[in-house]
Amino acid sequence: MTERTETGAEDEAVTEAAAEAVARRDLAVRAAVVQGIVGERKPLAGLLDVTGIRRATRALQSAFAAVVPDPALVQHTFAVKATPLVPVLRLLYEDKIGAEVASAGELALARAAGVRPAQIVLDSPAKTVPELREALDAGVMVNADNALELERIDALRAELPDSASTFGLRVNPQTGTGTIAATSTAGATSKFGVPLRDEGAREAVLAAFAQRPWLTRLHAHSGSQGLELAALAEGVRVVHELAEEINAAAGRPQVDTVDIGGGLPVDFTSDRALPSHAQYAALLKETVPGLFEGRYTVITEFGRSLLAKHGLALARVEYTKTSGGRSVALTHAGVQIAVRTVYAPGSWPLRIAAYDAQGRPKEGEEREQDIAGPACFAGDLLAERRALPPLEPGDWVAVLDTGAYGFAHHYSYNSLTRPGVHGFAAGPEGVRFATVRAAQTLAEIVAESGGEHTRALTDDL
Ligand SMILES: *Cc1c(COP(=O)(O)O)cnc(C)c1O
Repeated sequence: MTERTETGAEDEAVTEAAAEAVARRDLAVRAAVVQGIVGERKPLAGLLDVTGIRRATRALQSAFAAVVPDPALVQHTFAVKATPLVPVLRLLYEDKIGAEVASAGELALARAAGVRPAQIVLDSPAKTVPELREALDAGVMVNADNALELERIDALRAELPDSASTFGLRVNPQTGTGTIAATSTAGATSKFGVPLRDEGAREAVLAAFAQRPWLTRLHAHSGSQGLELAALAEGVRVVHELAEEINAAAGRPQVDTVDIGGGLPVDFTSDRALPSHAQYAALLKETVPGLFEGRYTVITEFGRSLLAKHGLALARVEYTKTSGGRSVALTHAGVQIAVRTVYAPGSWPLRIAAYDAQGRPKEGEEREQDIAGPACFAGDLLAERRALPPLEPGDWVAVLDTGAYGFAHHYSYNSLTRPGVHGFAAGPEGVRFATVRAAQTLAEIVAESGGEHTRALTDDL
């Protein structure tokens, strides 16, 4: 009975939060048009809802604080690959969210944001010796991917005995793939971590920990998008079971931290942010109670679920036409900002909201239209036969839920410029914008495309 009331209350809260997010979005789109954040010369921009991001980080914290005896036993990091923008990392860090990085570039972004090394976890599967040395030198947390990497760390620890780094080992629970193969990492043949069910692998992991008293963490990340919560929780259960086994063999709590990765799926069909971090935390506690009794620190690495819903790409409708009886809107939002949607539309559908030339929600009887991008190939469509009010040149389309893995991941097809990204917040004096990343200039495009080496192939060889 109580449970049902609580679920009802959470449901209502989710619906209310969604309505507020839509209201903020409408205000922001209108203000972006009126204030010239977008316009004829800036036909595409990314917008980030700072209020939404703050609420999401706080909801994440309270979700996990509710399932541990002491909030200090949870350390959240943000998977930088989801939104690799320094001001975003800074915003999250001020709300006590560290950074999960998987390359030298992501590590540089986290450090530029001022994230303390002790709150950065390095996870990439192909770390070079120089990258590992830099990580140890800085004191970031390192999760080794495999046995060969552990040997490299053995050597580097001897070289850098004063390193403040702590170390873990990534394992693959092999609990199964989800609906999207490319982002499933707990399949039988996934490239990440030590595959626990392979013959001899478990024994090898136990031996690796027995030989290395400084290995204190286990890490698993079962995948991103397309996995059911139960599958994610099962992966964590398997890893916790291994931690208990290692600790029993060691006769001491050698593994004191379990890094559960990220992977909470996002609903790309609705404004409602479900499943919630609270639902996932509750399910984890139910599935793996031993992880939440005070004997382990839990690290999380959420990406998509923290940011996706709080970003949109706003693009101008340049032309409209009909082709073979189909209505097509030619816009500035295409493959360059949503590469997954364009190449795998079935797995990565995106919602589109229509606004008029003044940035007001577009009215009118809906009809099916293709939303095409600016790139020169036929498949550059963000949506096919999408029911929307009839679009006209000068209107704006908002591509929703692109705050993670969206406009920040530019794909430079056709040398299309990287759009600017702006954070927004509504205050008493209206909506204010702050530049998160300036739009790329044509001079930058030329420079990045060998513009300084014009005669390299004609005169220099
Ligand atoms: C991508 C990734 C994450 C984040 O995944 P989301 O689905 O964005 O939450 C976390 N950890 C690792 C190791 C990853 O590769």
